[in-house]
Amino acid sequence: MSGAWDPRKRAAWMQRTRADRTRRDRAWRRANPDKARAIGRAYREKLARERPAIVVARRHRGYWNNPRVHREKARRSADLARTKLLELLGPWCGFCGEADDAVLQVDHRIPVGNRHGGVASLWQRVRRGVETPHNLHVLCANDHARKTRVESTLWRVSEAKARIHTEEEAAA
Ligand SMILES: [Zn+2]
Repeated sequence: MSGAWDPRKRAAWMQRTRADRTRRDRAWRRANPDKARAIGRAYREKLARERPAIVVARRHRGYWNNPRVHREKARRSADLARTKLLELLGPWCGFCGEADDAVLQVDHRIPVGNRHGGVASLWQRVRRGVETPHNLHVLCANDHARKTRVESTLWRVSEAKARIHTEEEAAA
């Protein structure tokens, strides 16, 4: 039977037409940038949802392939995220009104601890609607430090109380 499907012939054809297919693909992407972006985003979201280990491994490999570029990108996305959050929340300190961009920081009104992943992932969560911006505000570095100090003192007090409580229960 002639014309039967031969995987080796198909592989050879794919190899032969590779440059042509790449050229067509690039032309299509240039002609339909929005569709191309949507397809890429859908692919990345699917991968992150179904194979998160692959995403982590790729990021890890990307870092060790070129740490300097990786850090540069991370810094740029953090800067962008900070700009967007300051735009969203208002670029002034919520306590004293300080408006010097060099000292403004984004803070959680109700603290969430120090493992929230930095300003870039914070902005991503706000953008995706996973985290509400109503729990965020902008503070100057001084007011942020004061607030954090009070919070950590309160946390230590409540932790000490809890410990006393537990020890009393153990003694009883
Ligand atoms: Zn302030």
